[in-house]
Amino acid sequence: MQQKLKIAIQKSGRLYEDSVKLLKDCGIDVKNGINKLKTEAENFPLEIYFLRDDDIPQYVEDAVADIGIVGENVLYEKKKAVTVVEELGFGKCRLSIAVKRNEDYPGVEFLQGKRIATTYPVLVERFLQEKGIRSDIHEISGSVEIAPGIGLADAIVDLVSSGSTLFMNGLKEVETVLKSQAVLIRNNQLNDEQLKLLDRLIFRIRAVKKAKNTKYVLLNAPNDKLKEIISLLPGMKSPTVLPLAEPGWSSVHSVLSENQFWDIIEQLKEAGAQGILVVPIEKMIV
Ligand code: ATP
Ligand code: MG
Repeated sequence: MQQKLKIAIQKSGRLYEDSVKLLKDCGIDVKNGINKLKTEAENFPLEIYFLRDDDIPQYVEDAVADIGIVGENVLYEKKKAVTVVEELGFGKCRLSIAVKRNEDYPGVEFLQGKRIATTYPVLVERFLQEKGIRSDIHEISGSVEIAPGIGLADAIVDLVSSGSTLFMNGLKEVETVLKSQAVLIRNNQLNDEQLKLLDRLIFRIRAVKKAKNTKYVLLNAPNDKLKEIISLLPGMKSPTVLPLAEPGWSSVHSVLSENQFWDIIEQLKEAGAQGILVVPIEKMIV
Protein backbone atom coordinates (compact mmCIF):
# COMPACT_ATOMS: atom_id res chain seq x y z
CA MET A 1 0.00 0.00 0.00
CA GLN A 2 1.19 3.46 -0.78
CA GLN A 3 2.36 5.40 2.24
CA LYS A 4 0.25 8.44 3.13
CA LEU A 5 1.27 11.51 5.01
CA LYS A 6 -1.07 12.54 7.82
CA ILE A 7 -1.50 16.26 8.42
CA ALA A 8 -3.29 17.80 11.40
CA ILE A 9 -4.98 21.15 10.88
CA GLN A 10 -7.36 23.20 13.02
CA LYS A 11 -10.94 21.94 12.90
CA SER A 12 -12.49 25.40 13.03
CA GLY A 13 -11.21 28.78 14.09
CA ARG A 14 -8.77 31.35 12.90
CA LEU A 15 -6.33 28.96 11.23
CA TYR A 16 -8.86 26.67 9.56
CA GLU A 17 -9.60 28.60 6.38
CA ASP A 18 -6.02 29.60 5.62
CA SER A 19 -4.80 26.06 6.28
CA VAL A 20 -7.33 24.56 3.86
CA LYS A 21 -6.63 27.31 1.33
CA LEU A 22 -2.91 26.61 1.47
CA LEU A 23 -3.49 22.92 0.73
CA LYS A 24 -5.88 23.79 -2.09
CA ASP A 25 -3.41 26.30 -3.55
CA CYS A 26 -0.90 23.44 -3.49
CA GLY A 27 -3.26 21.58 -5.80
CA ILE A 28 -4.50 19.21 -3.09
CA ASP A 29 -8.24 18.68 -3.05
CA VAL A 30 -9.51 18.90 0.51
CA LYS A 31 -13.14 18.18 1.14
CA ASN A 32 -14.89 20.24 3.75
CA GLY A 33 -13.96 19.19 7.25
CA ILE A 34 -16.87 20.57 9.25
CA ASN A 35 -18.20 17.78 11.49
CA LYS A 36 -15.56 15.41 10.23
CA LEU A 37 -12.54 14.07 12.04
CA LYS A 38 -10.56 13.26 8.93
CA THR A 39 -10.65 13.26 5.18
CA GLU A 40 -8.42 12.02 2.39
CA ALA A 41 -7.08 13.98 -0.54
CA GLU A 42 -7.75 12.23 -3.82
CA ASN A 43 -4.86 13.60 -5.82
CA PHE A 44 -2.05 13.55 -3.24
CA PRO A 45 -1.18 10.88 -0.65
CA LEU A 46 -2.39 13.01 2.22
CA GLU A 47 -4.82 12.32 5.06
CA ILE A 48 -6.16 15.42 6.76
CA TYR A 49 -7.10 15.35 10.45
CA PHE A 50 -9.21 18.16 11.87
CA LEU A 51 -8.31 18.89 15.50
CA ARG A 52 -8.30 21.61 18.14
CA ASP A 53 -5.20 23.69 17.65
CA ASP A 54 -4.03 23.09 21.23
CA ASP A 55 -3.79 19.35 20.58
CA ILE A 56 -1.83 19.52 17.33
CA PRO A 57 1.73 19.66 18.78
CA GLN A 58 1.02 16.62 20.97
CA TYR A 59 -0.46 14.60 18.11
CA VAL A 60 2.54 15.37 15.93
CA GLU A 61 5.01 14.51 18.69
CA ASP A 62 3.20 11.18 19.21
CA ALA A 63 3.12 10.50 15.43
CA VAL A 64 -0.68 10.26 15.41
CA ALA A 65 -0.20 12.91 12.72
CA ASP A 66 3.09 13.15 10.80
CA ILE A 67 2.87 16.89 10.22
CA GLY A 68 0.66 19.74 11.38
CA ILE A 69 -0.19 23.40 10.99
CA VAL A 70 -0.24 25.38 14.23
CA GLY A 71 0.48 28.87 15.57
CA GLU A 72 3.93 29.43 17.06
CA ASN A 73 2.17 30.70 20.19
CA VAL A 74 0.60 27.29 20.80
CA LEU A 75 3.70 25.38 19.69
CA TYR A 76 6.08 27.15 22.08
CA GLU A 77 3.60 27.13 24.94
CA LYS A 78 3.23 23.35 24.67
CA LYS A 79 7.00 22.73 24.44
CA LYS A 80 6.62 19.53 22.41
CA ALA A 81 9.51 17.74 20.68
CA VAL A 82 8.66 18.44 17.03
CA THR A 83 10.51 20.19 14.19
CA VAL A 84 9.41 23.41 12.52
CA VAL A 85 9.74 22.96 8.76
CA GLU A 86 8.26 26.11 7.27
CA GLU A 87 6.81 29.47 8.27
CA LEU A 88 3.47 29.86 6.52
CA GLY A 89 2.89 33.61 6.62
CA PHE A 90 -0.70 33.52 7.94
CA GLY A 91 -2.28 33.51 11.41
CA LYS A 92 -0.11 36.46 12.30
CA CYS A 93 -0.61 37.87 15.78
CA ARG A 94 1.40 38.76 18.85
CA LEU A 95 1.24 37.62 22.42
CA SER A 96 1.17 40.86 24.36
CA ILE A 97 1.02 42.14 27.89
CA ALA A 98 -1.75 44.66 28.51
CA VAL A 99 -2.70 46.78 31.51
CA LYS A 100 -5.60 49.13 32.25
CA ARG A 101 -5.55 52.09 29.90
CA ASN A 102 -5.37 54.67 32.70
CA GLU A 103 -2.46 52.87 34.41
CA ASP A 104 0.94 54.55 34.49
CA TYR A 105 3.26 52.00 32.94
CA PRO A 106 6.93 52.86 33.48
CA GLY A 107 8.33 49.57 32.05
CA VAL A 108 8.43 45.84 32.84
CA GLU A 109 9.30 46.61 36.48
CA PHE A 110 5.63 47.54 36.82
CA LEU A 111 4.86 43.81 36.70
CA GLN A 112 7.01 42.94 39.73
CA GLY A 113 4.77 41.18 42.27
CA LYS A 114 1.63 41.85 40.20
CA ARG A 115 -1.09 39.36 39.26
CA ILE A 116 -1.05 38.43 35.58
CA ALA A 117 -3.89 36.46 33.97
CA THR A 118 -3.13 34.42 30.85
CA THR A 119 -3.74 31.21 28.95
CA TYR A 120 0.01 31.13 28.15
CA PRO A 121 1.73 30.58 31.54
CA VAL A 122 4.85 28.95 30.05
CA LEU A 123 5.62 31.77 27.62
CA VAL A 124 4.83 34.45 30.21
CA GLU A 125 7.05 32.82 32.82
CA ARG A 126 9.93 32.62 30.34
CA PHE A 127 9.52 36.26 29.32
CA LEU A 128 9.44 37.50 32.91
CA GLN A 129 12.38 35.34 33.92
CA GLU A 130 14.50 36.83 31.12
CA LYS A 131 13.67 40.29 32.46
CA GLY A 132 14.35 39.30 36.06
CA ILE A 133 10.76 39.95 37.11
CA ARG A 134 8.69 37.78 39.44
CA SER A 135 4.92 37.99 39.14
CA ASP A 136 1.97 35.98 40.25
CA ILE A 137 0.77 34.18 37.11
CA HIS A 138 -2.87 33.06 37.06
CA GLU A 139 -3.67 30.56 34.34
CA ILE A 140 -7.22 30.96 33.09
CA SER A 141 -8.75 29.22 30.13
CA GLY A 142 -10.51 32.04 28.29
CA SER A 143 -11.91 35.60 28.30
CA VAL A 144 -8.59 36.81 29.65
CA GLU A 145 -9.32 40.38 28.59
CA ILE A 146 -12.00 40.85 31.26
CA ALA A 147 -9.70 39.86 34.16
CA PRO A 148 -8.47 43.38 35.06
CA GLY A 149 -11.99 44.84 34.90
CA ILE A 150 -13.33 42.33 37.42
CA GLY A 151 -10.36 42.70 39.75
CA LEU A 152 -8.86 39.31 39.00
CA ALA A 153 -5.54 40.62 37.68
CA ASP A 154 -3.39 43.76 37.30
CA ALA A 155 -2.25 42.76 33.82
CA ILE A 156 -3.06 40.18 31.18
CA VAL A 157 -1.11 38.38 28.49
CA ASP A 158 -3.18 37.53 25.45
CA LEU A 159 -3.09 37.27 21.66
CA VAL A 160 -3.56 40.53 19.80
CA SER A 161 -3.91 41.26 16.13
CA SER A 162 -5.64 44.62 15.67
CA GLY A 163 -5.86 45.57 19.34
CA SER A 164 -9.61 46.25 19.17
CA THR A 165 -10.50 43.64 21.83
CA LEU A 166 -8.05 45.25 24.23
CA PHE A 167 -9.43 48.67 23.42
CA MET A 168 -13.02 47.61 24.02
CA ASN A 169 -12.03 46.29 27.41
CA GLY A 170 -10.26 49.48 28.48
CA LEU A 171 -6.79 47.99 28.18
CA LYS A 172 -3.54 49.09 26.52
CA GLU A 173 -0.78 46.95 25.10
CA VAL A 174 2.57 47.52 26.82
CA GLU A 175 4.94 44.63 25.95
CA THR A 176 5.27 41.98 23.23
CA VAL A 177 6.05 38.52 24.58
CA LEU A 178 6.09 36.74 21.20
CA LYS A 179 5.39 37.48 17.55
CA SER A 180 3.57 34.54 16.06
CA GLN A 181 2.45 33.07 12.76
CA ALA A 182 1.29 29.67 11.61
CA VAL A 183 4.06 27.14 10.96
CA LEU A 184 4.27 23.67 9.47
CA ILE A 185 5.67 21.21 12.00
CA ARG A 186 6.73 17.60 11.63
CA ASN A 187 7.29 14.56 13.77
CA ASN A 188 10.96 13.98 14.59
CA GLN A 189 11.04 10.35 13.42
CA LEU A 190 9.57 10.35 9.92
CA ASN A 191 10.80 7.55 7.66
CA ASP A 192 12.39 8.14 4.25
CA GLU A 193 9.16 7.72 2.37
CA GLN A 194 7.34 10.17 4.61
CA LEU A 195 10.19 12.65 4.30
CA LYS A 196 9.99 12.38 0.51
CA LEU A 197 6.27 13.15 0.59
CA LEU A 198 6.93 16.05 2.93
CA ASP A 199 9.55 17.39 0.51
CA ARG A 200 7.01 17.31 -2.30
CA LEU A 201 4.54 19.21 -0.16
CA ILE A 202 7.13 21.79 0.94
CA PHE A 203 8.15 22.33 -2.67
CA ARG A 204 4.54 23.22 -3.49
CA ILE A 205 4.10 25.39 -0.39
CA ARG A 206 7.20 27.41 -1.30
CA ALA A 207 5.96 27.94 -4.85
CA VAL A 208 2.63 29.22 -3.51
CA LYS A 209 4.27 31.45 -0.89
CA LYS A 210 6.72 32.90 -3.38
CA ALA A 211 3.94 33.65 -5.86
CA LYS A 212 1.89 35.36 -3.16
CA ASN A 213 4.70 37.82 -2.50
CA THR A 214 5.43 38.49 -6.13
CA LYS A 215 3.65 40.34 -8.94
CA TYR A 216 4.01 40.08 -12.68
CA VAL A 217 4.49 43.51 -14.24
CA LEU A 218 3.96 44.45 -17.89
CA LEU A 219 4.61 47.93 -19.19
CA ASN A 220 5.21 49.88 -22.36
CA ALA A 221 8.40 51.87 -22.75
CA PRO A 222 9.81 54.17 -25.42
CA ASN A 223 12.97 52.49 -26.75
CA ASP A 224 15.20 55.41 -25.80
CA LYS A 225 14.16 54.91 -22.14
CA LEU A 226 14.50 51.13 -22.15
CA LYS A 227 17.93 51.00 -20.58
CA GLU A 228 16.92 53.11 -17.60
CA ILE A 229 13.64 51.22 -17.13
CA ILE A 230 15.31 47.82 -17.30
CA SER A 231 17.86 48.92 -14.70
CA LEU A 232 14.97 49.49 -12.26
CA LEU A 233 13.59 45.97 -12.65
CA PRO A 234 15.14 43.14 -10.65
CA GLY A 235 13.34 40.31 -12.52
CA MET A 236 13.88 36.57 -12.12
CA LYS A 237 16.79 36.65 -14.57
CA SER A 238 16.46 39.69 -16.80
CA PRO A 239 13.20 41.19 -18.04
CA THR A 240 11.57 40.08 -21.27
CA VAL A 241 11.51 42.85 -23.90
CA LEU A 242 9.23 42.56 -26.95
CA PRO A 243 8.73 45.09 -29.75
CA LEU A 244 5.29 46.75 -29.90
CA ALA A 245 3.44 47.21 -33.20
CA GLU A 246 4.04 50.93 -32.77
CA PRO A 247 7.60 51.76 -33.91
CA GLY A 248 9.99 53.02 -31.25
CA TRP A 249 8.13 51.29 -28.39
CA SER A 250 8.64 48.05 -26.50
CA SER A 251 6.71 45.95 -24.02
CA VAL A 252 8.68 44.98 -20.92
CA HIS A 253 7.69 42.03 -18.68
CA SER A 254 9.16 41.30 -15.29
CA VAL A 255 8.41 40.18 -11.73
CA LEU A 256 8.52 42.37 -8.63
CA SER A 257 8.33 41.42 -4.99
CA GLU A 258 5.42 42.85 -3.02
CA ASN A 259 7.62 44.87 -0.66
CA GLN A 260 9.55 46.75 -3.38
CA PHE A 261 6.45 47.12 -5.48
CA TRP A 262 5.22 50.71 -4.93
CA ASP A 263 8.70 52.22 -4.86
CA ILE A 264 9.64 50.68 -8.17
CA ILE A 265 6.31 51.46 -9.86
CA GLU A 266 6.79 55.15 -9.02
CA GLN A 267 10.32 55.12 -10.40
CA LEU A 268 9.16 53.33 -13.55
CA LYS A 269 6.54 55.99 -14.21
CA GLU A 270 9.08 58.73 -13.69
CA ALA A 271 11.42 57.02 -16.13
CA GLY A 272 8.72 57.10 -18.84
CA ALA A 273 6.94 53.74 -18.52
CA GLN A 274 3.30 53.73 -19.63
CA GLY A 275 0.34 51.36 -19.49
CA ILE A 276 1.71 49.54 -16.48
CA LEU A 277 -0.20 46.31 -15.74
CA VAL A 278 0.31 44.38 -12.53
CA VAL A 279 -1.04 40.83 -12.32
CA PRO A 280 -1.00 38.21 -9.59
CA ILE A 281 1.10 35.09 -10.02
CA GLU A 282 -0.45 31.76 -9.09
CA LYS A 283 2.64 29.59 -8.61
CA MET A 284 6.28 30.46 -8.84
CA ILE A 285 9.06 27.91 -9.19
CA VAL A 286 12.58 29.28 -9.15
P1 ATP B 1 -9.49 25.70 19.05
O1 ATP B 1 -10.94 25.46 19.21
O2 ATP B 1 -8.92 25.00 17.84
O3 ATP B 1 -8.70 25.43 20.29
P2 ATP B 1 -8.93 28.48 19.63
O4 ATP B 1 -10.15 29.17 20.08
O5 ATP B 1 -7.90 28.07 20.61
O6 ATP B 1 -9.35 27.25 18.71
P3 ATP B 1 -8.49 30.50 17.55
O7 ATP B 1 -9.04 31.73 18.19
O8 ATP B 1 -9.23 29.87 16.44
O9 ATP B 1 -8.11 29.38 18.64
O10 ATP B 1 -7.01 30.86 17.09
C1 ATP B 1 -6.17 29.90 16.54
C2 ATP B 1 -4.80 30.52 16.32
O11 ATP B 1 -4.93 31.58 15.39
C3 ATP B 1 -4.13 31.15 17.52
O12 ATP B 1 -3.52 30.22 18.37
C4 ATP B 1 -3.11 32.04 16.84
O13 ATP B 1 -1.98 31.31 16.45
C5 ATP B 1 -3.85 32.50 15.59
N1 ATP B 1 -4.37 33.91 15.67
C6 ATP B 1 -4.17 34.84 14.75
N2 ATP B 1 -4.72 36.02 15.08
C7 ATP B 1 -5.28 35.87 16.26
C8 ATP B 1 -6.01 36.73 17.13
N3 ATP B 1 -6.24 38.01 16.85
N4 ATP B 1 -6.50 36.22 18.26
C9 ATP B 1 -6.30 34.93 18.53
N5 ATP B 1 -5.58 34.07 17.75
C10 ATP B 1 -5.06 34.53 16.62
MG1 MG C 1 -7.16 26.42 21.02
